Amino acid sequence: MSLNTKDLQNYITKKSLNSGALLVGYTKIRRVEPVIILGFPFSDKCFFNYPITLTKQLSKVYKTSKNVQNIIAKTLKKEGYWAEYKTVLSVYGDFRPLAVSAGLGEWGRNGLVVNEKYGSSLLFAAIFTNAPLNTYIQDQTKEAPKHCIECNECINSCPANAFENGRFHLYRCLPYSIRGCSECLKNCRQNR
Ligand code: SF4
Ligand code: SF4
Repeated sequence: MSLNTKDLQNYITKKSLNSGALLVGYTKIRRVEPVIILGFPFSDKCFFNYPITLTKQLSKVYKTSKNVQNIIAKTLKKEGYWAEYKTVLSVYGDFRPLAVSAGLGEWGRNGLVVNEKYGSSLLFAAIFTNAPLNTYIQDQTKEAPKHCIECNECINSCPANAFENGRFHLYRCLPYSIRGCSECLKNCRQNR
């Protein structure tokens, strides 16, 4: 297979979507190196409350993400490019800023990436490459995304007051979230 950039990118997008990814985006790290960001579905209903279901679901999403990323990385390598990937369970880092940069969603007031169609119940994985892909860099400096305008449901539903003064206070959230709180996710209208 020897594909031009446009065909290669179309192939990656189609293959990813057909193999279990919900979202595919292309952006750059440090505004230089291309990275492919994939979004996978993850139900907030399992979030912390049901540890066994959560583990099973995480394992399923991990396998799907690994399989898709393997296919894409092999394709890129066959085309003569360098490619490495990090799955949804990577300890490498948090891919949410890259997902926003790729245009896969906007920052919600609940600190998660909210996609217009799929809400915030998403996990992200990344494929790093030197292939000359067409990338997009979304401005992340906007004040409030349009889905959050006139909505304060996550803020109002939080028992820990973790969103006070327009900031997310992680240490207020933690004691609640480890006991099963996911009110901000459950109440986000984007997740309905
Ligand atoms: S998980 Fe619970 S405590 Fe933490 S921010 Fe969401 S609603 Fe607040
Ligand atoms: S609950 Fe409302 S304000 Fe909070 S993230 Fe969802 S849409 Fe935005």
